[in-house]
Amino acid sequence: MTAKLVQGYEVVIGFETHTQLSTQSKIFSRASVAFGAEPNTQACAVDMALPGTLPVMNEGAVQRAIEFGLAINAHIAERSVFARKNYFYPDLPKGYQISQFEIPVVQGGEVSFFMEEGQETVRKTVRLERAHLEEDAGKSLHEDSALGGGGQSGIDLNRAGTPLLEIVTQPDMRSSDEAVAYAKELHKIVTWIGICDGNMQEGSFRCDANVSVRKPGAELGTRREIKNLNSFKFMQQAIDYEVRWQIDQIEDGHTIQQATVLFDPDTGETRAMRTKEDAADYRYFPDPDLPPLVIGRDWVERVKSEMAELPRVMAERFVRDYALPEYDATQLTQSKAVAAYFEATAKACGQPKLASNWIMGEVSRRLNTSEMAIEQAPVSAAQLAALIGRISDNTISNNAARQVFDHLWQPKIAELVVSDSLEDVTAGVIALAALKQIDDIIEAKGLKQMNDTGELEKIIDDVLAAHPKNVEEFKAGNTKALNGLVGPIMKASKGKANPGQVNALLMKKLG
Ligand code: ADP
Ligand code: MG
Repeated sequence: MTAKLVQGYEVVIGFETHTQLSTQSKIFSRASVAFGAEPNTQACAVDMALPGTLPVMNEGAVQRAIEFGLAINAHIAERSVFARKNYFYPDLPKGYQISQFEIPVVQGGEVSFFMEEGQETVRKTVRLERAHLEEDAGKSLHEDSALGGGGQSGIDLNRAGTPLLEIVTQPDMRSSDEAVAYAKELHKIVTWIGICDGNMQEGSFRCDANVSVRKPGAELGTRREIKNLNSFKFMQQAIDYEVRWQIDQIEDGHTIQQATVLFDPDTGETRAMRTKEDAADYRYFPDPDLPPLVIGRDWVERVKSEMAELPRVMAERFVRDYALPEYDATQLTQSKAVAAYFEATAKACGQPKLASNWIMGEVSRRLNTSEMAIEQAPVSAAQLAALIGRISDNTISNNAARQVFDHLWQPKIAELVVSDSLEDVTAGVIALAALKQIDDIIEAKGLKQMNDTGELEKIIDDVLAAHPKNVEEFKAGNTKALNGLVGPIMKASKGKANPGQVNALLMKKLG
C-alpha cells in the first residue's frame, strides 16, 4: 500500500481520544455527571479535594472500559494501576490528576473501517496502543469585561472527576481523510456499545490529533498535538492546515518543535499553546489512595456474554445471511437504528439487496437533506418492504416506485401510517396495511406497469408499422435502430410498459 504524499512528504497521525463514559456518577465520587448544571452544584468533597477525602472506584466506569476492550479485540489487564499525574492548574484542586500510566486497563486492539480510494473500497486498520481510565479536570470560566462581564475568572468543579476513557492509537494514519474515518468509526463503536453518548458539542468525545510529516522512508518526524477537536469538520481542517504549516516550515529550513496547539475555527489556523511536556514532567507515581484495579476473567466473560452484537460482527452477518457486498453491510451498520430498519425491510420483502439499495439510496438521501435520523423517517420499514414487493412482482417499475416513495415521504401522510411497528415487519411478511396503502397510491397515480402482453403487443405492432425504416436497419444489422423503436413504445404505453418485456417481445417479432 503506497501512502499518498503531500508535496513529497508522508503525513503521520496518531490520535488520543477522551471519551466521557456514560455513568450517572463520577469516577471516584458519588456526585452527578449530568451536563449543564449551575457551577459547583455537582462537586462533592472528593471532587473539591478537601483534606481527608478518599477516592472510591466507580464499578460502572470499569465495566465500560471492559466493554470497550472487548469491542476492539484488546487485552483487558487483570491488574492495572492508577497513577498520579502531577501538574498545577487552577481547575485541578488536588494538584494531580488520577490516571493510569504504566499499566492501563485496555491494552492493544484495533479499529478497522472502509475507505473509498478512487474506484476501490479498501479496508484500513488502525492499531490501538491502549485505553486507560482517568478523571476529567474542572473548568475555568472567564468573564469577558469587554462583553459587560466583571473581567473575573471563576472555577467550576462540576466536571472534575467525570470518568474518561482515553483511547490512544499507534501513529498509523496517513492522511486527514484516514484520521477522520478512524474518528468516525471510533465514535460509532463507543455509541453503539453505549459507553459514551458521543455528544461532541458537549465534549463527550474529544480528539487530540498528533501530526508529523517526513520524507518517505525516513524516521518519524517531530509531532505537534492539536488539542480538543470536537467536530469532524474541524478535525479535517485542522490537520490539513497543520500538515501544510509543517511542510512550509521544513521547506524554509526550520525544524519542528514538539508542541501542543489549538485550532481556531474562525481563522482555520492552528497556533501553539505551550511547548509539549514529557512524561517526566508529570512525575507519575502509583496513587497510594487506590489499590490496583483487579478484573477477574469471570467478570470479562460475563460482560462478553451480555454485550449486544457489535457493528463489525453484524456487518459480517449481513454479508453471510443476506449475501450483501461488504460495502453495503458496513454502510447499513452505521447505527443500530439503520441496521434494524434494514433487517426489518429485508426480512419482510425477502429482497435484501433491493432493500439495501433503497436504504443507501433514496432513504439516506432524503434523511440527509432534511437532517433527520432514520427513526424519524416518514416511510416505515413496512412501507418500504411493500413497495419493494411491488417492484419485484413487476407491478411497478423502479421509476414508478420512486414516485410512490416521494408521495409517501411527505410527513403529514406518514403520521397516519407509521403505525406498523418494527416487530410486525420482522415477522417476515409484508404488512397488509402497508401493502394496501402502496397499492392505493399506485392505483391513484395510474402507475401500474403494463403486464398484459396482448395490449403491449398491439402497441408494438403499431410502432413497428409506423417505423419501417428502423425495422429494416435493425434487420440489416444496425442494433442501434432498436432505440428508435423502444422510445415510441414506452411513450405509447405512457411509461407503463415493462422494459424487459418490451425488449423480449421486440426480439421475438424482429427475429
Ligand atoms: P503523549 O501521551 O505524551 O502525548 P504518546 O507517546 O503516548 O505521548 O503519544 C501520543 C500519540 O501520539 C499516540 O497516538 C501516538 O501514536 C502519536 N505519535 C507518537 N509519535 C508520533 C509522530 N512522530 N507523529 C505522529 N503521531 C505520533
Ligand atoms: Mg498526548
